[in-house]
Amino acid sequence: MSDSQILNFVHCRSCFKLKPFHIKPKDWARFEVGWTRQGFQVRCIRCDKNVLHIDFCNQKVGFVRDDGSTEERKPDETNH
Ligand SMILES: [Zn+2]
Repeated sequence: MSDSQILNFVHCRSCFKLKPFHIKPKDWARFEVGWTRQGFQVRCIRCDKNVLHIDFCNQKVGFVRDDGSTEERKPDETNH
């Protein structure tokens, strides 16, 4: 059973349009994701480009647990 709660997938504008018809978007995506000084970044490995970089603006953030509850943390506590 999937625990995905994703409503809209993130795509790379540069290479998504090159995706062959028979390949699913999740099989086409080649992303690296990680924490940054400002927040969280998604980069396309294929294009070596930024896809998404979210700045938390020093706001408190929360990690959603598998049971749906949220564990709050400050951004500087996200590197683990
Ligand atoms: Zn790309």
